[in-house]
Amino acid sequence: MGVMAGTGLRLRFAEELRLFLAPRYRSAAPFSAPYDGASSLGHVVQSLGVPLPEVGRLLADGQEVPDSHRPRGGELIDVEAVPRPQRLPETGLLLDVHLGTLARWLRLLGLDTEYRNDLDDDTLLARANTDRRVLLTQDRGLLKRRALWYGCYVRGAGPDEQLADVLDRFAPRLAPWTRCMACNGRLVVATKDEVEPLLQPGTRRTYDVFSRCLSCGRAYWRGAHGGRLAALVDRAQETVAARERRTGE
Ligand SMILES: [Zn+2]
Repeated sequence: MGVMAGTGLRLRFAEELRLFLAPRYRSAAPFSAPYDGASSLGHVVQSLGVPLPEVGRLLADGQEVPDSHRPRGGELIDVEAVPRPQRLPETGLLLDVHLGTLARWLRLLGLDTEYRNDLDDDTLLARANTDRRVLLTQDRGLLKRRALWYGCYVRGAGPDEQLADVLDRFAPRLAPWTRCMACNGRLVVATKDEVEPLLQPGTRRTYDVFSRCLSCGRAYWRGAHGGRLAALVDRAQETVAARERRTGE
């Protein structure tokens, strides 16, 4: 141990991971990074900016190694991205405070999605672990925390890109119009009479499918020609189908 201290490592990161690297490291070619001769490969990868939950296989000179591996120096390290689609536990998702629109859209698609806008990092991490939900975040520091059981970096500056990324990553089974966008509660079919006190004038004529949230009581309605949210559902189903086609190839 330590004999090769000071020797650099050569590293090559999968394209999907290069956004986490410093700009000078972002080309496709392997690059050399300083190595203290003692740190684990997982530590080296994270100190270069890449959170381990985003990492798939690690290869040292072509041999798969665990993230606890201590390179001897001089090896070529390949860092692969986590393979897609990734399994989504039935315990569902927990979204970071900055992902409110994404949370609403995931609920629209029927995914069990916890979201609050007032949780600090420690509380988010503890809740993800306790409830066994996948934490979706754009906070790299949070994803690097060892205690987090299962996290995922969401790519994209706006909710459209973010939604496409999450759907591509998990290819989840969608159940549109089954969850409340406001509170994640289950929706049940309702009659016009039941929801009428909650409807705007004109809604009664135009819409013919009504539902009600079992948790907060909010009413939802849809017409035959769905509008913006129905278009979002259509796009989401196409994104998942495209991922399944690519996976099947
Ligand atoms: Zn609700």
